[in-house]
Amino acid sequence: MEYVSLTPTLSVSRLCFGSLTVGPLQANLPVGRGAEVIAYAFSRGVNFIDTAQLYENYDYIKRALELAGHPDVIISSKTYAYTRELAQSAVEEARRATGRDVIDIFMLHEQESEHTLRGHAEALEYLFECRERGIIRAVGISTHHVAAIRGVLKLGLPLDVVHPIYNMRSVGIADGDVNDMRAAMEDAKAAGIGIFAMKPLGGGHLIADAKAALDFVLDTPCVDAVAVGMQSEDEVDANIAYFESRRFPEKAAAALAKKRRRLIIEDYCLGCGKCSERCRQGALSTADGVTVCDNDKCVLCGYCVPVCPVFAIKVI
Ligand code: SF4
Ligand code: SF4
Repeated sequence: MEYVSLTPTLSVSRLCFGSLTVGPLQANLPVGRGAEVIAYAFSRGVNFIDTAQLYENYDYIKRALELAGHPDVIISSKTYAYTRELAQSAVEEARRATGRDVIDIFMLHEQESEHTLRGHAEALEYLFECRERGIIRAVGISTHHVAAIRGVLKLGLPLDVVHPIYNMRSVGIADGDVNDMRAAMEDAKAAGIGIFAMKPLGGGHLIADAKAALDFVLDTPCVDAVAVGMQSEDEVDANIAYFESRRFPEKAAAALAKKRRRLIIEDYCLGCGKCSERCRQGALSTADGVTVCDNDKCVLCGYCVPVCPVFAIKVI
C-alpha cells in the first residue's frame, strides 16, 4: 500500500475507504457485516476512512476499529453544521459514536462557493478552535463545486484539506468540467492544501471503464489520495490490487463488468417532492405527484435518501 502525506502530520494510504456505501444510505449492511468489510480493509493496510454525520455509520466504524484491534487509522468526517452549536454537536457526536477522542479530519459538507463558506463561518471557526485544542487534526471542506475551492482560496481560509468530486467525465461537477476542477485543485495544492478526491468512478457511471477512470485520477499529480466506496472484501482486494499494480484480479474484473448500481424509487412514493428539492445534481423531478430519477445525472451520493418520509428511495 502506498502512503502519502495528505498534510504535514497526516500520513494516509492513497486508497481511502469511502464508507457511504456500506451504511444506511446505500447497501445498508448490518452493522456487524459492514464493520467486517471495513476491518478487512484496515488489516490490508488501508489506514484512511471517510465518513459523514449524514451517513449515520459511525457505529460501523467503531465496531470495525474494535474488530481490527484499534489500529492507528485516519478518520475523516464532515457536517452540514452552519452554527457554532451545531458544529460542536457534530464533533461531539463523531467523537462519542466512533469512540475516538480525536477526529483526524473534520470538514464542512458540500460547500458550493465563497457565499456558502461565509454562511458557515461560525461552524468553520469552531472547527479551527477544535484544531487548536487538538480535538481535530485537520479542517477541510467537501465539494462538488469548483467555486467552493476558488472561494477557499479567495477568502484565504486556513484549511488543511479539500475533498472534491473528480473524475474523467466530469460526472457530478456542478459548475464546470474536470479541467476547471483540476485547475482549482492545483491552486489549492500550491497553497499547501491536501487533496483527497471522491467519486473517481462517477458514483458508478464509469464502472464499465473503471481502469481508465482510476488511472485518470491516480495520474493527476495534485491528487494525494482517493476515496472509493466499497461494500465487500472482494471490492477491497480489487481496489488495493489496482492501486498497487494498476491491475484488477481476474475475478474482480469480471465482477466489476457486471456491476451496475442505480437509484430506484419505490411505488409507495408519496410524490411530496422533498427529494427533488434536496438533489443538487438535478437528477430528481417531481410533477403531478410523481417523482422520477434521471440516472444519467444521478451520482448515487445517496443524499436524497434521508429526506424521504417513507423511505421510498433505495440505492441498489
Ligand atoms: S438523486 Fe439522490 S443519489 Fe442521485 S444525485 Fe440526487 S441526491 Fe444524489
Ligand atoms: S421524498 Fe420520498 S415520498 Fe417524497 S417524492 Fe421523494 S421518494 Fe417520493
